[in-house]
Amino acid sequence: QETWKVALFGDGAVGKTAIAVKFTRGTFLETYDPTIEDSYRIHTSFQGQPAFLELVDTAGQDDYATLRDQWLHEGDAYVLVYAVSSRKSFMRLLNMEATLKRARQKSSHIYPVSMLIGNKYDLTDQAGGRAVGAQEAYELAQRYGCFYMETSAKSGYNITKMFETIVLALRNR
Ligand code: GDP
Ligand code: MG
Repeated sequence: QETWKVALFGDGAVGKTAIAVKFTRGTFLETYDPTIEDSYRIHTSFQGQPAFLELVDTAGQDDYATLRDQWLHEGDAYVLVYAVSSRKSFMRLLNMEATLKRARQKSSHIYPVSMLIGNKYDLTDQAGGRAVGAQEAYELAQRYGCFYMETSAKSGYNITKMFETIVLALRNR
């Protein structure tokens, strides 16, 4: 029985909790409570093989501080989340090479899987809704050695896909 622990990091209000709730409960969290910090468990399967996932949601005034070594050590995978509608949330994920390198060296796991997520994809339907280009995000992911995907916790776009990608990478690690 494989159990994978996936930690979600990123600026406040980018949709970390909404992603965890959507994937584990199938519902969209409309309200915003920046203080909720919980973990969400789901028993699912990918490609016919069962997978037990524990999503570790993080919160806090300074969400940079939540990129705590503790989570990075414990997590089999970590997801760096920004919102495609928020330039600021993307900027806050820049210059993290040192942190990621440290996490990978210190990790008790063979090699944590990492993924960059541009959430709130549904907002790109609206004029002026996109503040972060897919190309620049892809380039950042290349630089970090991360997977990259755009998602919407609201519509469900790529939510299952992102966790499937993580689990398949963990299995093949
Ligand atoms: P967190 O601080 O990163 O955990 O952010 P939350 O998950 O609490 O979400 C912050 C706000 O953004 C909430 O009002 C959510 O309903 C909203 N939100 C989260 N994901 C999406 C999304 O994919 N699309 C849209 N339009 N809103 C979202
Ligand atoms: Mg939250």
